[in-house]
Amino acid sequence: MINALAFVDGGVAVTELERVPPGVDPSVPSSARVYDYLLGGKDNLAVDRAFAERLLAVAPDARLAARANRDFLIRAVRFMARLGIRQFIELGTGIPTFPSVHETAHAIAPETTVVYVDYDPVVRLHAEVLLSSGKNVTSVQADVRRPRDIIEDPEVTRLIDFSEPVGLLMVGVLHFVTDEEDPAGIIAEFADRMAAGSHLAISHAMAESAPEARAQLRTAAADSPIHSVLRSHDEVLALFNRFELLDPGLVPVQNWRNDDGLPLFPDNEPLRIRIDGAVGRLERPETGGSR
Ligand code: SAM
Repeated sequence: MINALAFVDGGVAVTELERVPPGVDPSVPSSARVYDYLLGGKDNLAVDRAFAERLLAVAPDARLAARANRDFLIRAVRFMARLGIRQFIELGTGIPTFPSVHETAHAIAPETTVVYVDYDPVVRLHAEVLLSSGKNVTSVQADVRRPRDIIEDPEVTRLIDFSEPVGLLMVGVLHFVTDEEDPAGIIAEFADRMAAGSHLAISHAMAESAPEARAQLRTAAADSPIHSVLRSHDEVLALFNRFELLDPGLVPVQNWRNDDGLPLFPDNEPLRIRIDGAVGRLERPETGGSR
């Protein structure tokens, strides 16, 4: 298990990963731990670091891409919270990184409820620590590809009132869902249940990424369970079909409402692993989803 966990300034610091939790094969990389490594975290194994280093060899800006993606998530949460969203579901949470969704939302509205959903047992372990912080936060170990299980989970229905607007966060997760697994159908299942005025944030690894980065992702996928489906601008836009896209639309995450005056990249260079993001608003929910 994890050696030591402690809250530091409201964040979770993990000093050492000694042994792996039950159900974790230390010879197989996980997207949550690879992402943790790219963000400078310590909750990763040698196999995750090797996977990430292979990626960094062809896309040295993969760390920047991970950080830009994380910053997009935080800006999207702030944006929605300022619009009055008081309940969030984050699908594909990852290992906690400061600030997390609930810390960001609570800084604006302390009464906000947050449900974290991830299928990774290491994420689950950290979530148990998060839970001890209370504050209307809960965590569910579940698979995004089974949306109904999530919507009907008692922990979800305890904290989320689907008759009120919800902020649905699918940041850095849909590229792990294949076309056959029907990402549009997953979103439709949630949209059917969510009230008008709900918001959806998506970020996605793009088919427009540099060819060598795309090739490396394909090679890495061949001997690991991390299969990234890179989708084109139009394919990701289509995922918002029930949502009105808000300004500035679907753009590289580092450019999305990045008005804090902090340029992320010298000369605004495009990243080799391109990740685009957008936020949309659900206007008129329909009933009878496609799944
Ligand atoms: N959303 C966070 C962010 O953007 O900072 C973390 C993104 S991380 C790249 C992707 C996360 O999605 C990982 O923690 C992984 O375990 C999770 N994930 C991938 N496929 C999933 C699935 N089918 N069900 C639940 N979680 C999934």
